[in-house]
Amino acid sequence: MTREVYLDNAATMKKYSDAIESESKFYREINANPLRGLYKKSVQATTGVNEAREAVLKLVHADKSYTVIFSRGTTEAINLVANGLILGDDGFGVVSRDDKVVVDIVSHHSNILPWKQRYSNVILSKNLEEDIKGAKVVSLTGVSNVTGENFLKRISEVRRALPEAILGVDGAQMVGHVDFDITSLGVDFVAFSGHKFGAPMGIGGLIIKKELAEKLRPLNFGGEMVDSVSLDGEPTYADIPERLEAGTLPAGAIFGLKAAVKSVKEFGLAEDLVKEAAEQMEKISGVKILAANGLILTFQIEGVHPHDVAQILADENVMVRAGWLCAEPYLRYKGWGPVVRASFSEFNDKADVEALVEVVSKVREKMGL
Ligand code: PMP
Repeated sequence: MTREVYLDNAATMKKYSDAIESESKFYREINANPLRGLYKKSVQATTGVNEAREAVLKLVHADKSYTVIFSRGTTEAINLVANGLILGDDGFGVVSRDDKVVVDIVSHHSNILPWKQRYSNVILSKNLEEDIKGAKVVSLTGVSNVTGENFLKRISEVRRALPEAILGVDGAQMVGHVDFDITSLGVDFVAFSGHKFGAPMGIGGLIIKKELAEKLRPLNFGGEMVDSVSLDGEPTYADIPERLEAGTLPAGAIFGLKAAVKSVKEFGLAEDLVKEAAEQMEKISGVKILAANGLILTFQIEGVHPHDVAQILADENVMVRAGWLCAEPYLRYKGWGPVVRASFSEFNDKADVEALVEVVSKVREKMGL
């Protein structure tokens, strides 16, 4: 098959042309550090960065109590918050390393390891109702990268049950794909990655309550995050968000992010394609559909290792992901083991579904089964 069928959008979504164009236009026409210079181009860079922050806040219906801290993506954002929350004698932090931290079993490794590395009492919960009791920090998955399930209802239940705890969301698969209102959800932070919704790679962040951001320890120290550094003694730090964004920001990517946010017109445009593909694939003998929700279709083929499935599909130009999907604890807990995942975006169409179904229907035969 010569036609390219890209079905790995949950890993990184196909990019909006406006996002690519905005990034490249930034370097062609502006190319100045935001926040630094007083000359016109630097001011334009600063203005663009601030507009991008506002655009992200608007996308998730954030009120004035929230801000955005830019990071490389979800992984870095969760590391920032996990590290920043630990009480230290540097005046930052709010919880101790021994306090109870709960993450959900469906979590991506990026919502497990940043906590496990730093806290001694991290529960990978299979039963949130029980496990959240006494938790100081709860970090939950917004939308699963394995099943496509949306956990917004569960998140608001946890918020109600635990009004005092710090409650955050791994929004990697949610921001830009699901219309949610962070203000009424009442969570303290949502981590996101721009590249998962059509923005360039290398930019994402933490949408976080300003009150909490004020208390976070920076992950990086250096330029841009201080107001004054003396010969001896303590530096005076800049205000948030800059305090938590040391170094030169990837302004081109941020301009691209702003354009991507504008390009998100309707949410869930490809969800029907997932349902259609699942319906057709279910009829193929030996195919087991494990999940078909939102933009994600996860399956296995009897007697064929998921990597072989993905390779046979790749040989026909159908690009999917296979393996543990960076969610090994969940796949083990479900007893599924490695899987194949086809993930869609609004750039896909019915012809892509047909191509996927056609190649999947030939896999067992190709393996001599
Ligand atoms: N969480 C989830 C649910 C994800 O799907 C991903 C990306 N696969 C991440 C976190 C990590 O995102 P990033 O690599 O952009 O930091």
